[in-house]
Amino acid sequence: MNEVANNAAKSGVWGVDRPIGVAVLGMGTVGAEVVRILRDHAEDLRNRVGAPVVLRGVSVRNLDKDRGLPAELLTTDSESLVARADVDIVIELMGGIEPARGLIKAALDAGKSVVTANKALLAVYTGELAASAENNRADLYFEAAVAGAIPVVRPLIQSLSGDRVNKVVGIVNGTTNFILSAMAETGADYHDVLAEATRLGYAEADPTADVEGYDAAAKAAILASVAFHTRVTSADVYREGISKITSEDLETAAAVGCTVKLLAICERVTEGPEEGGKESISVRVYPALIPRKHPLAAVNEAYNAVVVEAENAGRLMFYGQGAGGAPTASAVMGDLVMAARNKFYGGRAPGESVYAELPIASIGETPTRYHVNLQVADRAGVLEAVAGEFAKHGVSISTVRQEGHDDVGARLVVVTHHAQESALADTVAALAELDSVTSVTSVLRLEGTEE
Ligand code: NAP
Repeated sequence: MNEVANNAAKSGVWGVDRPIGVAVLGMGTVGAEVVRILRDHAEDLRNRVGAPVVLRGVSVRNLDKDRGLPAELLTTDSESLVARADVDIVIELMGGIEPARGLIKAALDAGKSVVTANKALLAVYTGELAASAENNRADLYFEAAVAGAIPVVRPLIQSLSGDRVNKVVGIVNGTTNFILSAMAETGADYHDVLAEATRLGYAEADPTADVEGYDAAAKAAILASVAFHTRVTSADVYREGISKITSEDLETAAAVGCTVKLLAICERVTEGPEEGGKESISVRVYPALIPRKHPLAAVNEAYNAVVVEAENAGRLMFYGQGAGGAPTASAVMGDLVMAARNKFYGGRAPGESVYAELPIASIGETPTRYHVNLQVADRAGVLEAVAGEFAKHGVSISTVRQEGHDDVGARLVVVTHHAQESALADTVAALAELDSVTSVTSVLRLEGTEE
């Protein structure tokens, strides 16, 4: 033990005679790996923290499963485990809202620090839990709740705390990235790839939370909160999933040098000077075209990546394994060491920072570029009629391409400049009414261009 640690041990309650006690709630995919690391690396942890870190107990639902742990460490009574006098830090890895929320609150109210990976809970209840942490001088850490092993929450909260973050855009759901990557690579249909993803264990039996974007939306809410010092919950996040993406969409994307990714986008939106330059934030999750040269286009299979753009730091990219037992446990253990060191040396984790209280822009007010595919009659004047509808609704066109023509007509691909969602929706509705337009075959957003 070094001199500082020695002094801390002398003055504080923790040390060789009083280890830092840890309770783990849940021993599934992530919890089992956390318990393994806690036990296998006890000596390293002790050296890194300054005092021994000891597992006091693990709560589960089913005591009959063989978990390779002494029976006295296992319990189904999470409340009593959290309340034990020799438990200083609670690691919540059971997932879901209740009983996780009540247990975390009970721990924080008792002055115990909490580490959790529970994005669904945090995306709704961070305010309440952070208040309990603040009132009781306890820590609430949640690095593992976003993008598994990838350090992104702490860089935003701490490393970039002296900068001004303008945008965070990420691929934060491995299941959907696996599906979209496989569709792009093989040309296979969404449902076939989803079935394969389920067979390989990349998708859950009920894939809704992943494929409909709920999981990514919860992560986007957490990222936006910490990036913009504003409380953002899941309900504030505009969300579309990937279940309507077709193999034709991926083909079209490839033809224009793009690929399709499910993006979580958190960005500052500043209105023009005529509106007083009012600043708000837009938080949204949807599948979008991105140019192949964009750094996120190279993120394939189940990998995650987050790109942060800050005023002074410029563009930073974080890449790695966004899920899985051991990778997620790595992030949990990092938080545990921070919480344990804070106990030992008397420090505190940064609390929730929501001073900016920026308004959340609706999706209708959020400017984005669009890629609109139309099936049209192959005759003179069609282009003019189509372009006229865009102009009428104030949507400026960047490029128009006509692709082939056959008995049923021709295909027009229109790429717009930045336009508001509401103006684009009105344009699409008007296009569908034109005699010369057979159908609007797809409307995809285009992100990650310089413009
Ligand atoms: P999991 O495999 O389903 O494990 C959940 C564990 O919690 C199981 O051991 C279960 O007990 C226990 N549990 C559930 N309800 C309980 C209750 N009421 N009382 C006591 N124990 C209870 O979940 P996971 O995949 O490890 O995920 C845990 C958390 O990490 C979730 O919040 C998840 O969103 C987050 N996360 C997971 C990943 C990942 O890759 N899996 C990545 C990032 C974040 P039994 O074993 O007896 O059923």
